[in-house]
Amino acid sequence: MNARPAPEFPEWPQFDDAERDGLIRALEQGQWWRMGGAEVSAFEEEFGAYHGAPHTLAVTNGTQALELALQCLGVGPGTEVVVPGFTFISSSQAAQRIGAVAVPVDIDPSTYNIDSEAVAAAITDRTRAIMPVHMAGLIADMDALAKISVETGVPVLQDAAHAQGACWQGKRVGELGTVAAFSFQNGKLMTAGEGGALLFPDEETYETAFLRHSCGRPRTDRHYLHAISGTNMRMNEFSAAVLRAQLRRLDEHRAVRDERWKTLSALLGEIPSVVPQGMDPRVDRNSHYMAMFRIPGISEKDRNRLVDTLFAAGLPAFAAFRAVYRTEAFWEIGAPDLSVEEVAERCPAVEAISADGLWLHHRVLLASEDAICDTAAIIAAAVAAA
Ligand SMILES: *Cc1c(COP(=O)(O)O)cnc(C)c1O
Repeated sequence: MNARPAPEFPEWPQFDDAERDGLIRALEQGQWWRMGGAEVSAFEEEFGAYHGAPHTLAVTNGTQALELALQCLGVGPGTEVVVPGFTFISSSQAAQRIGAVAVPVDIDPSTYNIDSEAVAAAITDRTRAIMPVHMAGLIADMDALAKISVETGVPVLQDAAHAQGACWQGKRVGELGTVAAFSFQNGKLMTAGEGGALLFPDEETYETAFLRHSCGRPRTDRHYLHAISGTNMRMNEFSAAVLRAQLRRLDEHRAVRDERWKTLSALLGEIPSVVPQGMDPRVDRNSHYMAMFRIPGISEKDRNRLVDTLFAAGLPAFAAFRAVYRTEAFWEIGAPDLSVEEVAERCPAVEAISADGLWLHHRVLLASEDAICDTAAIIAAAVAAA
């Protein structure tokens, strides 16, 4: 490799006096849980309004947001949830944790989003939810999924952990007519270290979720009347105060990432054998959670070596997700009655991308245009040498 200096990327997470003031405000309220403070409910209102959702519930993290949403949609023992084989494992684990079977299906080799024909083929009379993941902020084909949902009566749950601020044909995530789950874990596009939220199109599901996320206890209960089974997934006031500040920075960040991805994807596309994540013209706002690309045909071993080379050259580079069904965790509980190879056979694109895919952290997309050009040059040199 050449000895060019590593490009400079901003740190992540970012904060300023807005987060600092929020933390002090939460502290000085004297009430640090949502039942006594004002920060969580204010955050829910602001986050919901930002995404066009009628009802919003803040929770402890994205994984539990998915578990709670699935449970409210009727998922439990004896039921199945269709998930993409290529995702962070929380998508499938959430279904498995509440006793259901996670059924992994293939993705589109260009957008890396769930393949709607594969979804349709995987639906059985036990299926209670379809869970698209908006991969790296690119919204999945919500039109095709809505059609399947209407035809089969199976609801869609958006895993929108990557998609804060994204839009599908002018509609925000909260306007797409389904429950959506977000994560605010440290690396996500807005963060309080940990945290999650759910958007609901209807009041009834929201009310059920509220009860379940607070041990089944009505808001004003003083007599320990637990109306429904649940657990404690309540977000605390400090997290919400930080997230209110983070939300205000989201649009500005997203606009920068959008500009930088235009440059970076064009430069990556010029490198022989590199294919950046494709676009879908119906996604009119992409939140750009990761800068993803493939090197079709590279071996998994060489891809891993390339990730190490890029990392050594100063790029926050990572291998693409391992297929969920290629982990030991997946087979411990709630796996389909199939072998690994049988699942793999149904998921050729997942197999390919989990071996030949790479991604860069979104803080790369907050850097200068010069840093983007240097990044592409480093990748070009490393790929040529690989
Ligand atoms: C981060 C993430 C989650 C889980 O969120 P946590 O807040 O870390 O529990 C779920 N799904 C996807 C696709 C994610 O990237």
